[in-house]
Amino acid sequence: MEIRTAIIGAGVVGLAIAAELSKTEDDIFIIEKNISFGMETSSRNSEVIHAGIYYPRNSFKAKLCVEGNALLYERCGTHRIRHKKCGKLIVATNKSEEHQLEIIKKQAIENNVAGMELISKREIKKLEPSIQAISALFSPSSGIIDSHGFMRSLMVQAKQNGVNYIYETVVKRVEKTSNNRYKVHVIYPDGKPFSFYSQKVINCAGLESDKIAASVGIDISKAGYEIFFWKGEYFSLNTSNHSISRLIYPVPDLNNIKGLGIHVTIDLTGRLKFGPNAKFLPPKTYDFTVDKSENINFYKSLKKFLPFIKEKDLIPEMAGIRPKLQKPNDLFRDFIIKEETKKGLPGFVNLVGIESPGLTSSLAIAKFVKNLFKE
Ligand SMILES: Cc1cc2nc3c(=O)[nH]c(=O)nc-3n(C[C@H](O)[C@H](O)[C@H](O)COP(=O)(O)OP(=O)(O)OC[C@H]3O[C@@H](n4cnc5c(N)ncnc54)[C@H](O)[C@@H]3O)c2cc1C
Repeated sequence: MEIRTAIIGAGVVGLAIAAELSKTEDDIFIIEKNISFGMETSSRNSEVIHAGIYYPRNSFKAKLCVEGNALLYERCGTHRIRHKKCGKLIVATNKSEEHQLEIIKKQAIENNVAGMELISKREIKKLEPSIQAISALFSPSSGIIDSHGFMRSLMVQAKQNGVNYIYETVVKRVEKTSNNRYKVHVIYPDGKPFSFYSQKVINCAGLESDKIAASVGIDISKAGYEIFFWKGEYFSLNTSNHSISRLIYPVPDLNNIKGLGIHVTIDLTGRLKFGPNAKFLPPKTYDFTVDKSENINFYKSLKKFLPFIKEKDLIPEMAGIRPKLQKPNDLFRDFIIKEETKKGLPGFVNLVGIESPGLTSSLAIAKFVKNLFKE
């Protein structure tokens, strides 16, 4: 059996690519190890539509996030996906953080993020009376989305365009053949091995994407494709009795790769969620537990700008795992999105290290991948 395109992984990235490619191509198969789509990182995140503020200019993370943000809002409108363009405040609680806000604003403007505005303590009080801060940076294009609804819309669109879904099937390895085809070795749900040929392979295997890249012969350590697991835990507020209606973020340390700091997100029902923190995990450890005793650290971080918060109000919520390309103390790494002809693998595309803002960027990533094949 030979097919045209095999997409490994039905997370938001694999689905977005399937939906985009299937507009003009047929004979596309998505192979997914779980019983359905979007059951891993794509459903264990903050569901924030990011604006593209913090990332270095011209990085994939900056460009694809800004482009993806606009594409996502457009799709939410046309496909009636639940979302809210609620905006976000990055809040400064002391003078040095206030200086950081200026730097972040400059970075956002360089990245073409529209509408960023520094606002005063008085203006903060008008927007968010319960927040304590001396000034803030307001990002009007940040928002929240029903990520499952978004993925469902992609899955349905791709299906209507003829994409085939093969669930409960693990890709064990991919082998290049002498005629520039790929032999994809899979294990079916009954444990039986099977293999088929594909002209193109798109590796969207998220937390396992480095393993897939290694299986086709890439030296992932030399290429810098190795993925490190970083758990992010969330807590939520045990009451709906609050007045917050926007995303509230502390000023991040831009040199710290761990994340954007413990922040406040609202979900589409108005519930408050706090996190994620960042914990480096041993290799390939799928640990989604939430350590209850972390509530003290969450409380200490949050009380700087949420004076009403009490330690006992924080309840463990859930955790996700970031597929990072960095170990502790490493510097910024961008998404890897590469067609691998230069490595002797024509028609093989790797998407590795698609951490945040991967959900926001997914539609732009899909367009970028389509263009890689045109080139
Ligand atoms: C804590 C946290 C918070 C985040 N918050 C945000 C946010 O607010 N906004 C935002 O834009 N981004 C956010 N992100 C990032 C975003 O969630 C990811 O970038 C995005 O979900 C990645 O999608 P994906 O399709 O690449 O990976 P995944 O969702 O992990 O999908 C990969 C798929 O491949 C399948 N697979 C793996 N190996 C195999 C195999 N061998 N055979 C078959 N199938 C396989 C898996 O089962 C999985 O379904 C966050 C991430 C985390 C961890």
